[in-house]
Amino acid sequence: MNDERIYLSPPHISGDEMSYIKDAFDTNWVAPLGPHVEAFERETARYVGVKASLALSAGSAALHLASVILGLKQGMRVFCSSLTFAATVGSIYHDGIECVFIDSEPESWNMSPAALLRAFQNAEKEGLTPGAVFIVNLYGQACDMDAINKICSDYGAPVIEDAAESLGATYKGKQTGSFGKYSVLSYNGNKIITTSGGGMLLSDDEEGIAKAKFLSTQARDAAPWYEHTTLGYNYRMSNILAAIGRGQMLHLEARIAARRKIFDNYVKAFSDIEEFSFMPEPEWSCTNRWLTTLLIDESSDVTPLNVIDELAKLNIESRPVWKPMHLQPVFKGCSYWRHEEDNDVSAYLFKRGLCLPSGSSLTESQQERVINAVRKTMKR
Ligand SMILES: *Cc1c(COP(=O)(O)O)cnc(C)c1O
Repeated sequence: MNDERIYLSPPHISGDEMSYIKDAFDTNWVAPLGPHVEAFERETARYVGVKASLALSAGSAALHLASVILGLKQGMRVFCSSLTFAATVGSIYHDGIECVFIDSEPESWNMSPAALLRAFQNAEKEGLTPGAVFIVNLYGQACDMDAINKICSDYGAPVIEDAAESLGATYKGKQTGSFGKYSVLSYNGNKIITTSGGGMLLSDDEEGIAKAKFLSTQARDAAPWYEHTTLGYNYRMSNILAAIGRGQMLHLEARIAARRKIFDNYVKAFSDIEEFSFMPEPEWSCTNRWLTTLLIDESSDVTPLNVIDELAKLNIESRPVWKPMHLQPVFKGCSYWRHEEDNDVSAYLFKRGLCLPSGSSLTESQQERVINAVRKTMKR
């Protein structure tokens, strides 16, 4: 029996990366910065449809820089989607910024506009409205942008869009990564395309991006010596990694098509398992299906952890849905706004949610192995 390991979302190398890397070596641009960095920024900004972009060492670095150029600091408050990866607000929490977490809505699994509105109404009463709202396009699906943007602009709060998982996904035909005052991409190894590690900050605010660029390269003032009127960070992407990214970018559309096909195959294969419901796709969304995620209804005595254990025995990696931030020990004490008073949507998604192997390089026979293993666990 073939039991080679099947990963959740491994890197998918195209072969085109090497020619760009070779060029970087041949021209001795083995450095942070360089022509591939600039070209990768240009190509990404054109694809997403924004004016300015900045390639960085990680999506987390981009999130942190966005908060710095927005002027977020100790004593201030931010709102953030609870159902996400800790990096969304993890790096700014160190700076002593208060995090208020917002629940998901069942329609998209992303930030609930109803919960967001109640959080704003309460914050106004307390006299401490947020300095920014961090929205997340989870598993490659856009948030309900119109509803969220309307509320945030009514209260004058800028939006930071964490599009780390959603490159290539659209909302009403418009690319994600173009909705935030500042938006963030990630090229970590498990994302839809990768540079082995990296990120991008995107915006129409060219001045803000220029400021972020200055801060990302140690904030060196114009002088013959190292002169600093402010302190910065070492957050830039290297020319070699940007070369990988350019090779990956050529295949983004194919990667999205592959992941959507994998999702469709799972839906078809499990159509008779009535306890399963897949992450929905509202009519305004075209998701990249970064990960295929589904819920196992509470009526089933099989839990996501049971399935994960069984798949692990067969050398197949699977995961629960993200554990919401309001349930994380590190964020104990932070306030949280539910979708409805008596309906904690993100907690339910965590309890009953399962992510299946979804890498664009997953072969049909590998997917069949996953499907058979899941069916066996569900006793089908
Ligand atoms: C991967 C990810 C990040 C972090 O990106 P890095 O490049 O790994 O720092 C942030 N937010 C979300 C939602 C992610 O999935």
